[in-house]
Amino acid sequence: MIDLKDLEYSELEEFLLGMGEKKFRALQIFKWLNAGVTDFDEMTDISKSLRARLSEVSFISVLEIAEKYVSALDGTVKYLFRLPDGNCIESVVMRYHHGLTICISSQVGCRMGCRFCASTIGGLVRSLTAGEILDQVIFAEKDMGERISNIVLMGIGEPLDNYNNVIKFLHNVNDERGKNIGYRHITLSTCGVVPGIYALAEEDLPITLTVSLHAPNDRIRNEIMPISRKYSMEELMNACAAYHDRTKRRLSFEYSLISGVNDSLRDADELAELIRPLRAHVNLIPVNKVEERSYRKGSRSEINAFLERLTERGINATVRRELGSDIAASCGQLRKRAGGITEE
Ligand code: SAH
Repeated sequence: MIDLKDLEYSELEEFLLGMGEKKFRALQIFKWLNAGVTDFDEMTDISKSLRARLSEVSFISVLEIAEKYVSALDGTVKYLFRLPDGNCIESVVMRYHHGLTICISSQVGCRMGCRFCASTIGGLVRSLTAGEILDQVIFAEKDMGERISNIVLMGIGEPLDNYNNVIKFLHNVNDERGKNIGYRHITLSTCGVVPGIYALAEEDLPITLTVSLHAPNDRIRNEIMPISRKYSMEELMNACAAYHDRTKRRLSFEYSLISGVNDSLRDADELAELIRPLRAHVNLIPVNKVEERSYRKGSRSEINAFLERLTERGINATVRRELGSDIAASCGQLRKRAGGITEE
């Protein structure tokens, strides 16, 4: 059985041709799928017999809202979605002046092991299918009753560790016959999977790439991000430069400020030298609390001092606004759950 949302539009056409149907049926079905139908019988403009035949060879994946939290501080919404196999993932919808942005997951759990992140606790269960990644947008939008205009692939999982499904998802969510979300409104965040960065550069998708750097050198990065032992800082910077050259897109870096680990002014100086050639933007994220971890953020003045030092050195940097902190919806706080019950 195939999930119809795992197919790109052209594949859906072929699939229908293979069933002896006309190509234009694809348009009808693609629209229904993107509108969030959960049953073939909701597809009222296709015949009963085709609906019956479709349900014999394919299915429509559905994400159930297992839990929903709304931040009293800023209106951020966090969904705990139950996947068809019972696993649960989280997605977050944030309201900005330009509209709604959704932060979506790409995997159930994560195997990257970043020391400060809740998403990797308990490791990786499995990657999401392209359909399940898209479903987060479809079902959050359906529930919100409002268009979602921006996507950040910054939820649970490492998108470049689920490369093919993420690329397929990007094609589908961008398709003008479906959600029609422009590539320029999509940001993909990676912890630095170097081969994935080179591959992504060849896809010719004008999305924004952001790299979770979190350290100005190999010594500190090795301590907090296991991926750093696989790909050195030099290899990572070369990949970023190649990405920039190939795509002409400005990339950005995320830098979680962890008190006493990577937030000294010397670290800021070293960071500025490291990334200067890339002319990249830096998003500073005061590290968010994760129950199982002892890392903590510095004071407001320490964070500002770091920011000012980068700015003085000619680096374009901002401190990311913390949203949904009362519902554990901030960066690094999303986690997989089993059957809707928090794993301890
Ligand atoms: N795996 C991808 C996508 C996750 S994006 C990546 O690593 O980029 C989530 C962002 O939040 C990443 O930059 C991640 O490093 C950061 N993050 C993780 N834990 C955090 C924490 N406790 N506080 C602040 N940021 C955190």
